[in-house]
Order: sequence, then structure tokens, then C-alpha cells
Amino acid sequence: MVAVENRYNTRSRQPKKRSWARLVIFLFLMAVIGALGFFSMNQHAALQSLENNLQSLEEQLTRVEEEKSRLEEQYDQLYEENEKLREENKMMRSETLIEHGDRETNKVAITIDDGGTEAINNLTLDYLKEYGVRATLFPTGINVESYPETWRRAVEEGHELGNHSYSHPYLTNLSEEQVRAELSRWQEAVEEAVGRSYHTPFFRPPYGDGFYSGQSYHRERLQPIVAEKGMFPIMWDVELVYALRNQAYSSDRIVEHVLNQAQGGSIVLLHFTEADIKALPRIINGLRERGLEPCSLRELLLAEPQT
Ligand SMILES: [Zn+2]
Repeated sequence: MVAVENRYNTRSRQPKKRSWARLVIFLFLMAVIGALGFFSMNQHAALQSLENNLQSLEEQLTRVEEEKSRLEEQYDQLYEENEKLREENKMMRSETLIEHGDRETNKVAITIDDGGTEAINNLTLDYLKEYGVRATLFPTGINVESYPETWRRAVEEGHELGNHSYSHPYLTNLSEEQVRAELSRWQEAVEEAVGRSYHTPFFRPPYGDGFYSGQSYHRERLQPIVAEKGMFPIMWDVELVYALRNQAYSSDRIVEHVLNQAQGGSIVLLHFTEADIKALPRIINGLRERGLEPCSLRELLLAEPQT
């Protein structure tokens, strides 16, 4: 054994050195290959995770962009809302009573007061629907309580209800508390009928009482109450009851008078009477033939498309 070993040792002194070198080189190469393999695996994993990160960043970016456009939309809405409130606020504090809108527009507001029988109320809504007009309707609270379905339908069909008091009294006969109660009871009746909270910026004094020129004492007393309820009084520049007094009050005469008087920015006052409502389709067509567009008060005064 010893001899063999010695012989081997002797004979393989040089080869042993070489084989050591080879082994070292081999191990070195293995280490390099291993390191490269490890490195590339690592790199692969790193790439993978980079890709994942990138993807999640992209998703985040999409979300941020979506959020941004949502906020921009919200901003635009708030801006518009603010402009509208500014405009309303200006009107509420206005010393000049609103009898018409901007004369430069081709819009003419159709306002219809009091409410009538259920049949007349529904016929009015049928005509407005058929002719594609959104109007501002001023029923009394009592009429709203009598025909809640009609007034709910009016709101559902895009018309606006304006406050015309609960029981249509002469406001100049009432105390301030009674005036407040008339305005609140109207709102309660409407909210009951439409099944939700309801705010209108428009108030039309019954008979215009308290707001005519020469009634400045009453106006000074009444207008703050109306403003306190978030509304402003709306009069008119085209009406029939006084204009056609002592004349035959027929649909033909009504159509003729409205079409003669109405101009851009006008506020037309009609009532829920058979003669007025029967005239409505011819009034709408006649205005359009003259290049005027019937609309609601909101569209005329607040330049706001009715929704
Ligand atoms: Zn009235």
C-alpha cells in the first residue's frame, strides 16, 4: 500500500499539480457559472417584479387620471352651481322687480298661475309635453293639495313649480307671520305631493299684491320675507287679465295679445283657465314662428337648461 501510494505520489507529482489547477479552474468556472445563473435568476426575478411594479404604477396612474377627471367634473359643477347662486343672490337683493329677462335673448318664459280643475291641469301638461316646452307653474298650495298626482307629474316632466302662496290671499292684508306661514305651507304641500324636499327660487305674489309700483311700503316689508325663504318675487311683462278687461276673453284674443306683446326676454303670465290653456298650442307655435323660444323662468333668468 505504502509502495503504491509512493509510486503514485512520485509519478503523479506534476499531474497532481495540474489537476489541482484544473480543479481550481473548474471550481472557479462553476462558481462563475453559478454566480451568473444566480445573477440572471435574480435579474429575472427583479425584472418580473419591476414589470409588476410598472403594471401597478400604470393602474395607479389610470386611477389617478380617473380621479382627476372626476374632480374636474365636480369642479365644473360646483363652479356652475356657484354662478347660479350668485345670480340668484343678486336677484334676491335686487331693488328692481323682475318683470322680464335679458332682452337680447330669444327666450320667452311661460308662467301659468293658480292651478285649475284636474282636467285643465292635465290638459296643460299634455300640451307642454306635446310641444316640448318646459314652463314654470305657480299653483296655490291648496291646488297642490287637491291634485297631488298632477303636480308630481308636472315635476317629473321637467316643469318647475314656483311659490304662489298657500291660499292666494292679498299679502298686504297679512301680518309678517301670516306671510311666512303662507310661503311655508305652500312648500309643505309641494313636498308632500312630490315626495321629496323641494326648493324654488321663484315667488309670485298673488294678484301681484304688495309689489306693484306705488306699494313701496309693502314691498319693503314683504321682499325681505321672500328673500329670507331663499326666493325672489317674479312679476311679468305680458298678461291678459288686466290687459283684456272689458273685452271678450277668448282664446283667439289671448293668442293675438300674447303674440303682439311678447318679445325676447318676456315673462308671459297665463292662468289655468280653459281659454288660456286652449290658446297655449297657438301661443307656442306663434312664438316659434317669430323666432322666439318658450321656456321656463330658470332657463330665461338663470340661463340654466332645465333638467
Ligand atoms: Zn294667482
